[in-house]
Amino acid sequence: MNTPTETNNQTISARREFFKKIIFYTSAGVVVQALARSVTWAAEELGLIDMTKAKRKDAANEESVKIAAGIGYVSNLDAALKAKKATKADKPGAAGKVWKAGEQTCDNCALFNMTKATPVKATCALLPKVLVDAKGSCNSWAPKA
Ligand code: SF4
Repeated sequence: MNTPTETNNQTISARREFFKKIIFYTSAGVVVQALARSVTWAAEELGLIDMTKAKRKDAANEESVKIAAGIGYVSNLDAALKAKKATKADKPGAAGKVWKAGEQTCDNCALFNMTKATPVKATCALLPKVLVDAKGSCNSWAPKA
């Protein structure tokens, strides 16, 4: 049987643990919220290119749409090939690999995701200040090394 002093010490210890847990989980929550906010802000800074110009009427979109139209960018290669809105020939890659038309998507392109500081963003070296669709493609597609 515990003495009153031992019981009191156990209660104090339990309270300390409780407050430590609150501080830990609150700190973790703040960090998670900050990360989520930074991802949201980053996504707002670089929005997806809008070839229709209906959703994005800003100068960055305007500039990139002109370039994208020039290089035949499509946001969905598979759909564009099926609808015959894009044509592609097989292309040779490294180590004897042949890239079939349907494989020549942005996420397999050497110019994709060139913004090393923000690797989670689907960016293209040819299209400034916009995000491209990973399953898109264009006539400038080049295989990753
Ligand atoms: S250059 Fe590559 S990453 Fe850029 S739009 Fe064309 S296929 Fe996509």
